[in-house]
Amino acid sequence: MAKKIWVVLQQRDGKLHRMSWEAVVAGQQLAALDGGEVTAVILGSGLEASAEELASTALAGVHLVDNEALATYAPGPFIGALAAAIEAEKPDLVIFPHTYQSVDFVPRLAQTVGAALVPEITGFESADGSLVFRRPIMAGKLEAQVRAKGEGTVVISVQSGAFSPDELQSGSAAVLPLAIDLPELSADREILGVEEVGGEQVDLSQSEVVVAVGRGIGGADNMGIIEELAGALGGEIGASRPVIDSGWLPRDRQIGSSGQTVAPKLYLAAGISGAIQHLVGMKGSKVIVAINKDASAPIFGIAQYGIVGDLHEIVPALTEAIREANTEEKED
Ligand SMILES: Cc1cc2nc3c(=O)[nH]c(=O)nc-3n(C[C@H](O)[C@H](O)[C@H](O)COP(=O)(O)OP(=O)(O)OC[C@H]3O[C@@H](n4cnc5c(N)ncnc54)[C@H](O)[C@@H]3O)c2cc1C
Repeated sequence: MAKKIWVVLQQRDGKLHRMSWEAVVAGQQLAALDGGEVTAVILGSGLEASAEELASTALAGVHLVDNEALATYAPGPFIGALAAAIEAEKPDLVIFPHTYQSVDFVPRLAQTVGAALVPEITGFESADGSLVFRRPIMAGKLEAQVRAKGEGTVVISVQSGAFSPDELQSGSAAVLPLAIDLPELSADREILGVEEVGGEQVDLSQSEVVVAVGRGIGGADNMGIIEELAGALGGEIGASRPVIDSGWLPRDRQIGSSGQTVAPKLYLAAGISGAIQHLVGMKGSKVIVAINKDASAPIFGIAQYGIVGDLHEIVPALTEAIREANTEEKED
């Protein structure tokens, strides 16, 4: 019998979270590898717009768990609804995007339904007749291969950037009724309000060119050369986490596992070592250029073009050369 694969999607105000699409791709690829049917599951209230977004995606169907108690996320009602659905339908695999929200409730959900939990997977393969998941451990320094033991539902979450939405298979997806009796969904917390942090957040995922700066810049006072390079290239500025933690740039510029995931046409990394938590947020970029004074920096392992040297010399020289090229182009 075909495996029953559920992908539980995250949405807000009817708009699917970017990582929901990555989770769908993971589900489709798992189904292709291991055999199975992928059904999307969405929780909330008034979910027609989310279902509409999925209409042309290759899915066996879309289950909407539509209830007023699920309008604003809180772990209690989400676990109550999903546990009832999982216990009634017994999916083989339940996939979540690894978001702040899923981190908040999925471990407790897995424990409630007695499912094995494999969080933050970056890939999988079939070995000896069963699925083996890959996930980073020790802050990304090692990769573990994990197989769920025993029978029953397996719950996984998918790391940001590990699956590309470009690989989404299109088709059709009809809304399928989910014949379960929802239990009383009582809130275990009172949500006093939801506020967007920083009204004018930059959405780096929309940029075609990202000039990303790392700790190698040495301080906020040196940021001018990066701004000039980004200006010459018509790109946005991104950063590694230490730059943000040091307060040299605002948080919405962070790229990586705990920041934004980007896949621009050009990604230029200046003074960034290339830690796995940074790479997961940018490795889908079409062309990667790295500037680093250390020739053995891991960033060079994924860069198509590498410049070994001091960024304080190279970045201004590069800006100058780009400006000249831009001027020549205009004159032609
Ligand atoms: C749970 C968790 C989540 C994380 N999330 C993220 C995340 O979302 N994004 C992220 O980026 N990191 C994240 N990190 C941190 C990550 O592990 C690394 O510490 C971080 O990416 C390193 O940033 P960096 O490359 O700027 O700094 P470093 O690793 O210190 O590298 C600085 C680089 O600059 C080079 N350099 C120094 N001076 C110069 C110069 N003058 N010219 C040229 N090169 C120079 C050095 O050779 C070095 O390679 C996370 C870590 C954890 C544990």
